[in-house]
Amino acid sequence: MKSDKAGTGFTKGNRAKQTENDSDKNAVKKSRCPYFKKCGACQMIDTPYDKQLRQKHAHVAELLEPYTRVAAFVGMEEPEHYRCKVHAVFTHDKKGNPLSGIYREGTHDVVPIESCLLEDQKADAIIASIRGMLKSFKIKTYDEDNGFGLLRHVLIRIGKNTGEIMVVLVTVSPIFPSKNNFVKALLKQHPEITTIVLNVNDKQTSMILGDKEKPMYGPGFIYDICCGMKFKISPKSFYQVNPVQQEVLYNTAIEMALLKGDEVALDCYSGVGTIGIIASPHVKEVISVELNKDAVKDARINAKINDVNNITFYENDATRFMQQMAESGDKVDVVFMDPPRAGSTPEFIDAVATLSPGKVVYISCSPDSLARDLALFAKKKYKAIKAIPVDMFPFTRSIETVVLLSRE
Ligand code: SAH
Repeated sequence: MKSDKAGTGFTKGNRAKQTENDSDKNAVKKSRCPYFKKCGACQMIDTPYDKQLRQKHAHVAELLEPYTRVAAFVGMEEPEHYRCKVHAVFTHDKKGNPLSGIYREGTHDVVPIESCLLEDQKADAIIASIRGMLKSFKIKTYDEDNGFGLLRHVLIRIGKNTGEIMVVLVTVSPIFPSKNNFVKALLKQHPEITTIVLNVNDKQTSMILGDKEKPMYGPGFIYDICCGMKFKISPKSFYQVNPVQQEVLYNTAIEMALLKGDEVALDCYSGVGTIGIIASPHVKEVISVELNKDAVKDARINAKINDVNNITFYENDATRFMQQMAESGDKVDVVFMDPPRAGSTPEFIDAVATLSPGKVVYISCSPDSLARDLALFAKKKYKAIKAIPVDMFPFTRSIETVVLLSRE
């Protein structure tokens, strides 16, 4: 998945400097995160926040320099505990005591974690409660080596602006012993939980969620509100993990497009419809295209619950869809594009050029693929006008950037 769009590493000259800076610090004092050495997810956990932003800015500015100036990073006022999607893998120690935590980067070793500086604190508390309940309910955690045990993962999603909370219990079997009592006991400790879903994953795979799922309590999904619009989040939905910066990101993208209200906008790689739905009051019409069938289904529901009537969703490959639009002589004024980490493709950029919108707003989670794509856009006479990086993932090196391109 575009996962949480996190986890990139610095390249070129910055990387050496960065590692040196980080290890200097670590040599001098103990990390503020007790899991720092074992976990490896937050490369910048001990770098002061303003310095993180300066370093990330220098990196993206270096990559985008040939194309456009990069504005100051839009950071967070309170950069900790921003993750509203929290995943814990469950296992046990040699004595059979349940443990939960995260995989050490690049391995299947579990680093036990009690609480994380990035994760929502309520989510961490719920995970700790579940871990504490397992013994009395005689629920064994899954053992990857011999296939014994039941519980593999717990996934928590928090609707920050609605207060709704979804707990997903991922098991190898659909039979959950004392299911009703387990639900009751968990709700007693955390009455704020609004839904609990049982997801069955019986495959030896690195995917967390399996295909089958069933609500154990509540509707099986939550809603959240972003930029005044309501969105349905199911266990598998792609939805940004940092709700505060998600609003900043989408508002930045829409403001950059300088919409007048009479435009036809095309939202490519539209996921569950977020950008198109949020942009819909600012334009005449939105056309959204997304490859994933379930995301398109959710997107249609999202438009309906927000009473948005000027948007149409298509399940298609974005490139093929634009080629078809151009063949039928359809016109669009602005293209929003938010591709996965690998970025876009030369074919996609060709198709944009054929469709010939006046503006393109590119939302990128990888400055490397962004720089590569801006070079291709430049060849097609699309000039980058400005770039604004938005810090979606404080304490990590991940960089999200919005770029406005204009047809020359
Ligand atoms: N804009 C959305 C989702 C971005 S994630 C948001 O902000 O929430 C990127 C999306 O691109 C994913 O939903 C993925 O399914 C979709 N995608 C990947 N390749 C695609 C393609 N070739 N055509 C259309 N959509 C694609």
